Amino acid sequence: MTKQNFAIIGLGRFGGSICQTLISAGAEVLVIDKDEARINDYKNIATQAVIADAQDENTLKALGIRNFDHVVIAIGEDIQASILVTLMVKELGVKYVTAKAQNEYHARVLTKLGVDKVVHPERDMGVRIGRNLISKNMLDYLDLSSDIKVAEIRITSKKFVDKSLEALNFRSKYALNVIAIRREKKVEIAPQATMALELGDSLLVVGRKKDVDNFDKLME
Ligand code: ADP
Repeated sequence: MTKQNFAIIGLGRFGGSICQTLISAGAEVLVIDKDEARINDYKNIATQAVIADAQDENTLKALGIRNFDHVVIAIGEDIQASILVTLMVKELGVKYVTAKAQNEYHARVLTKLGVDKVVHPERDMGVRIGRNLISKNMLDYLDLSSDIKVAEIRITSKKFVDKSLEALNFRSKYALNVIAIRREKKVEIAPQATMALELGDSLLVVGRKKDVDNFDKLME
């Protein structure tokens, strides 16, 4: 399999941590920032590190930006630069573009420009931590769509202990599918319906958000 190649424009905390993660995963990463100090921090980490103002279309062309599989626009405060760079990157024909939005208006413009994935790291992390504070038993979750999610829920109610999924009539009663059961360090993938649950087990379930949340509430 050929290595995936990425370009990251803007090396703040967000762009920088994406770069580190991609490099650790074995990808090739070009980073561009107009700040020399930021580029110096990454010149031994990234595959290629270039000091440049990405608002200059000729620079983007010279770097062959259109040949990258994926471009991440991680420019922070400067919304005007983020929009202009996004416009040029899309016009140059990059297949997949991820861009960071500072606020809802910025996100709307990025979406109109055809950005494939708009992210709001601070807002999204705030939502995640807020939900985590509300529900102590929902250890983690992933939204699959606006209506469906996967979540890991710890069994803290005695009502479920020593009962199997079959005996609980789990799927029809809670409208959820159990993908895996974690018991301490061991993870049972595709668990048998006859496996009896223990206090502290966590269930990885998939289903409609309201059903996941209703099940989670039974734990409190
Ligand atoms: P974060 O919140 O991710 O830390 P920052 O605003 O600190 O975001 O970082 C954004 C980075 O983007 C900075 O390093 C800045 O120099 C860079 N940047 C901003 N505008 C441009 C541009 N036009 N061309 C290249 N890099 C840019």
